[in-house]
Amino acid sequence: PLILGLESSCDDTAAALLRGRDVLASVVLGQTQLHAEFGGVVPEIAARAHAERLDGAIEQALDEAKVTLPDIDAIAVTAGPGLIGGVLSGVMMAKGLSTGLGKPLIGVNHLAGHALTPRLTDSLTYPYLMLLVSGGHCQFLVVRSAQDFTRLGGTIDDAPGEAFDKTARLLGLPQPGGPSVEHVARNGDEKRFRFPRPLLDRAGCDLSFSGLKTALLRQRDQLIAEKSGLTEQDRNDMCAGFQAAVRDVLAEKTRRAIALYLAESPAEPALAVAGGVAANMALRTVLESVCADSSIRFTAPPLKLCTDNAAMIAYAGSELFAAGITDDMTLSARPRWPLDKTAVPLIGSGK
Ligand code: ATP
Ligand code: FE
Repeated sequence: PLILGLESSCDDTAAALLRGRDVLASVVLGQTQLHAEFGGVVPEIAARAHAERLDGAIEQALDEAKVTLPDIDAIAVTAGPGLIGGVLSGVMMAKGLSTGLGKPLIGVNHLAGHALTPRLTDSLTYPYLMLLVSGGHCQFLVVRSAQDFTRLGGTIDDAPGEAFDKTARLLGLPQPGGPSVEHVARNGDEKRFRFPRPLLDRAGCDLSFSGLKTALLRQRDQLIAEKSGLTEQDRNDMCAGFQAAVRDVLAEKTRRAIALYLAESPAEPALAVAGGVAANMALRTVLESVCADSSIRFTAPPLKLCTDNAAMIAYAGSELFAAGITDDMTLSARPRWPLDKTAVPLIGSGK
């Protein structure tokens, strides 16, 4: 079937067309410029931009895929979690198209979109282990089906991407912080500054990243007080130290998550990473070796499918559609929507 996917939960307005596993078109209209002067995503501005641009994103996707609206078999849309104004724009658009075209509507959890992407780009079988590391999330999930996820642990405060972005801001590097911190860290000495390895002494797979930011701020201010400014080398060394701390913590917690996952004797054991931070080479390299140590497969979708996009929403929608799961006009936009139904009670209606 031909599935139209829509994504508008954060600061990317995206539309994609998917047939089977073929991504016919994947349009992502970013809003970085719109929010640049505010130092973060402004929900009100994001919501307005989504409402204004969804039309255009869909038209562009149809053009690129050389199909027309009536060719579409189903419409998959991010129904949460995310900034409610943006999610609402997408859900309203999808409902309108569904009604107008008389085609099924499928509400997709944004995190499920990220978590299922490795199946779009690689031949992973259920259950596989997923490390989702992005600007807003950090969690270990056992993915059992398009609707069945078990959360093994996750961050108790900041997400790693957020920590990278804050680090860049504190050191005067450009946003998004991940790529700029990684870039200068290559010329840095990771051992010069001391960064904590939070929660390693605590059992389980939970993580914490807010302490890293505090450590960075303290050491930066101490240096500035001592020498009235930071040299390029100081900055490189701080970035290297910070990145090494994130890498070490994620590596150790991944070892623990793998142990829990392997206890279930999965048929074809694999770890997949997704989310923007999965672009980080230091992290990828260490995860590869952690997987090699436990003889499990490691896979990461190409970067443009790791960060927010609508192809992942169309793909998750296609799996739900194949399982006979669709929604009706009662589908609601949800600011919060945990993937693991056993972890936190669901708010509102849903699958
Ligand atoms: P979410 O998808 O959880 O709602 P998001 O949309 O902000 O959050 P993504 O688009 O998946 O997240 O990823 C963006 C984040 O990834 C940013 O915080 C960015 O700094 C980080 N990032 C991108 N490239 C790298 C890199 N090479 N190293 C570390 N972090 C990176
Ligand atoms: Fe995302």
